[in-house]
Amino acid sequence: MEKTKCLIIGSGPAGYTAAIYTGRANIPTLLYEGLQPGGQLTTTTEVENFPGYPEGVDGTQMMDDLRRQALRFGCEIRSGMAVQADLSAAPYHVTIEDGTVIEADTIIIATGATAKYLGLEDEKKYAGMGVSACATCDGFFYRRKTVAVVGGGDTACEEATYLAGLAAKVYLVVRKNYLRASEIMQKRVFDNPKIEVLFEHNVEGLFGTDGVEGAHLVKRLGQPDETHYDLAIDGLFLAIGHRPNSDIFRPYVQTDETGYILTEAGTPRTGIPGVFAAGDVCDPHYRQAIIAAGSGAKAGLEVDRYLSAKGLK
Ligand code: NDP
Repeated sequence: MEKTKCLIIGSGPAGYTAAIYTGRANIPTLLYEGLQPGGQLTTTTEVENFPGYPEGVDGTQMMDDLRRQALRFGCEIRSGMAVQADLSAAPYHVTIEDGTVIEADTIIIATGATAKYLGLEDEKKYAGMGVSACATCDGFFYRRKTVAVVGGGDTACEEATYLAGLAAKVYLVVRKNYLRASEIMQKRVFDNPKIEVLFEHNVEGLFGTDGVEGAHLVKRLGQPDETHYDLAIDGLFLAIGHRPNSDIFRPYVQTDETGYILTEAGTPRTGIPGVFAAGDVCDPHYRQAIIAAGSGAKAGLEVDRYLSAKGLK
């Protein structure tokens, strides 16, 4: 068993920013990177909305910068997934996939959320080349182009409406014959002349030479009048929900019904002393790198205050 004052789980903007704060507060910090080192931003191309990069920055480059900044202040960064947690009493214990058990006085859960995909091979083939799960991140690249958004919930309606402000045409591909989104969001979609809702449609695949040029669609799947056809689009946005990566903590921390960790309003406190949550794992609403970084900073500050108050620093 290894001991640390602060264990950070996750290597997105929340995790690394937390590590910068704990490192600068002279707190020995160990960070596990998780399944996707660098987090969701490494799956996007250019980040243009993170303050401080007037020309934009490559998502992977930005995460590498954050990583190096955390290292500069002494954080020990390891690859590996946390697979089990015991938060029943301090100090807390977390087991890593290689069997290592970490005993920590404080923990920052910054494990993020994972966008759901349809599971098509073509989603992987065209990742970063016309397939995105974040309109705010990538919508700008589709100005005056034609895009499709998949989903019928609030996220899909919000993303379609956002994209309609940039693109020439937006198709909303909905598998049922109704939208699940709230009425106000539905109204925004139906009132927008640039958005066309394709009810009872599913995406079966994508095509294109150097990027997405269109989607293979099926209408009324499984019905006698099932129809297959191709739709010309420049980009496909998935908006079929996110899954917060909170599974191993759920026996201990409070979550909403989807699994987002509930924190005390405006703070990263989970209700378990010394255990904090930051970033997308506790944010169903904004899901932005700058917000995650901000909440990581809060978590780092909370760790410092907690350890000082307990005389553990
Ligand atoms: P939801 O789970 O509400 O909706 C997911 C949508 O994706 C549904 O229409 C679902 O279809 C569809 N879907 C799921 N899997 C597939 C699939 N394999 N193929 C095709 N379609 C699929 O997720 P959201 O992200 O939209 O919302 C999550 C939560 O966040 C909700 O509580 C929502 O209200 C909230 N939210 C609120 C916002 C706001 O108020 N501004 C903005 C964004 C989210 P089906 O209906 O057939 O199951």
